[in-house]
This record gives sequence, C-alpha cells and structure tokens, in this order.
Amino acid sequence: MTEAAPTPTTKGQEPIKASELDPKFKYELQKIHGSEKILKCFQCGTCTSDCPIARYSDSYRPRTLIHMAQLGLKDRVLKSDTLWLCAACFTCTDRCPQDVEVASVIRVFRNLAVENGCMPQVFKDQIAAVLDSGYAYKIPDLRIKKRESQGLPPLPKGNPESVKKTLKGVKLIDNVQKPAGETLNVQPQQQ
Ligand code: SF4
Ligand code: SF4
Repeated sequence: MTEAAPTPTTKGQEPIKASELDPKFKYELQKIHGSEKILKCFQCGTCTSDCPIARYSDSYRPRTLIHMAQLGLKDRVLKSDTLWLCAACFTCTDRCPQDVEVASVIRVFRNLAVENGCMPQVFKDQIAAVLDSGYAYKIPDLRIKKRESQGLPPLPKGNPESVKKTLKGVKLIDNVQKPAGETLNVQPQQQ
C-alpha cells in the first residue's frame, strides 16, 4: 500500500521560499556513502507506508525528507527534529523499489546535521553523561542504594576516558559543542 501524493510543505511548515533552495544539495548527497542513490527516488511512498515510526507519528515521513532534499531544502532537512525519530530498522531500505538506501540516507542527514551543530539537546545531554560516567545517563543514588539493600553487586565502572578517545576520533565532541549556523555547510567527506 502506498500513501497519498507528496507534500514538501507538510502540516505546520512554512511555505517554501526560492531563497531556501540549494540546487547543489542533491548532488553533494550523491557523493556521500549511503545517499548515492537519492535521485532514484520517484516518491512512491513505500518507505513511509512501511515505516514503523511513521505509523505512530504525525510528522515523521522519510519520503518527505527525501523529497525535500531533492528539492534542495537543505536547512529544513538538516534542522528537522523528525530526523531523529528514525529507529534505523532498515525496513524502508528493504522495501524501496528503486534501491534507495533510505535508512542510510537518514543516517547521512543526521551526520550532516551533527557536523553543522544541529543535534537535539537530549543527545547532547546523553553524550555529556557518557563522557562523565561512561553511562548514557546518571544512575540515581537511590537505585544504587536499592541494589545494595537487595544484595546485588555494584555496577561495573564506566570507562569515560576510553569513550572520550573514541568520540574525539570521530570528531563528535567538537561537533556537539558547535552552535548551529545560520547557513549550513555540506561537504561530502568522512561518512
Ligand atoms: S525512497 Fe524508495 S520507497 Fe521511498 S518514496 Fe522513494 S522510491 Fe519510494
Ligand atoms: S529505518 Fe527509519 S525510516 Fe526506515 S523504516 Fe525504519 S524507522 Fe522508518
């Protein structure tokens, strides 16, 4: 089953202005590993119809994100909050009749968003927690005491230093601290 005709200006979005369009964006995406086939998308809607997240979300539509990218709406795509809802289940990739690697395209969008300082605060907080303790969130003292009271062994110690080294290697720490620019820059490189 496929969904209705594509609408790049989906609910709650402003009408598109010509000044927003970056005609080079789609060609830059073609040079990045994972999004090479983005121009093969003919907007059939299968990816959105079969996406388990789209089923429960009013706003997450992988097909629309791809359409926006094809149109050159770079800033809208990279600043989109919905980008972060993808569960990376690869159903869309398996079902796309055009062999577009949809899940990888979403990953490329996310990587470019991070490189341009557009990461949601919740992920920045998680990274800060990992760097601080080695855990993705701070384990509350209450829970640690409860474990002790029930005779459970202490939790293993995290190794934030090792994590820091890895995250520095992929430039994540620098990118997390970067503020979102007015105009986003896309340079195909390390994906
Ligand atoms: S990415 Fe594939 S499945 Fe999704 S709309 Fe385009 S052609 Fe259809
Ligand atoms: S990989 Fe992401 S976009 Fe694709 S079907 Fe799964 S949740 Fe949806």
